[in-house]
Amino acid sequence: MNTPLESAPMASAPMPVLFVGHGSPMNALEDNAFTRGWQDAARRIPKPQAIVCISAHWETRGVYAGATDQPETIHDFYGFPKALFDVHYPAPGDPALAHRIAQMVQSAKIHLDPGRGIDHGVWSVLRIMYPQADIPVIQLSLDTALPGAFHYRLAQELAPLRDQGVLVLGSGNIVHNLRLFHFHDPAPADWAARADTEIRARIESGDHAALMEWHGLGADVALGIPTPEHYLPLLYTLALQRAGDKIHIFNDRVISAISMTSVMLG
Ligand code: ZN
Repeated sequence: MNTPLESAPMASAPMPVLFVGHGSPMNALEDNAFTRGWQDAARRIPKPQAIVCISAHWETRGVYAGATDQPETIHDFYGFPKALFDVHYPAPGDPALAHRIAQMVQSAKIHLDPGRGIDHGVWSVLRIMYPQADIPVIQLSLDTALPGAFHYRLAQELAPLRDQGVLVLGSGNIVHNLRLFHFHDPAPADWAARADTEIRARIESGDHAALMEWHGLGADVALGIPTPEHYLPLLYTLALQRAGDKIHIFNDRVISAISMTSVMLG
């Protein structure tokens, strides 16, 4: 695999922020249009000092930050080939950064979890973006019982990280309805394509208020976000948008009832 970091510019301007549609865990082992989009994103971003990831796959009551020196690779799925269970992503943790975040965030109590590893929403993407696994990674959990405005406000408090060389990475899927997903027919469902287009338009126009209140965005979006865990990581990325950031949308394809649409701001 090539090493995207070699051509990355040096950090000086604020770090970009990223939301990635992660889709199937199998992307971790593949070379496809989506993984090439992730590699291209890595080339556009200065090499981070650390990565803070908000993934769809760590749901808690209360908000937690992983705070271990060496997070284990969690294989939080079933029915996939052994090769996927054999993947280990040995990036170090960064407990000191977890402590800093706990102090930085005032709108919620951040509990530190010294035993938590990283789930596939994190490592399936980072294995492609940063195959050398040499950048410390910590993960923040999602309290999915709380409203969009809670997540957006919490994420805004992470703003200093952009000036500290830290990449904040949301990992989910904007449209994600496994109940309506057809494994043998990847053609985009009409409603899923409309939902993705609707949300993309709000991202491009900066209408974050509407995106925080996605329940008001109509029937297609309601079908696309039957549960919030894959959508909420997008709000963490948008909350860190600054005036003058360019909006770069990529991997904007819908597969059946999942959209892979990804967003870089910076
Ligand atoms: Zn997922």
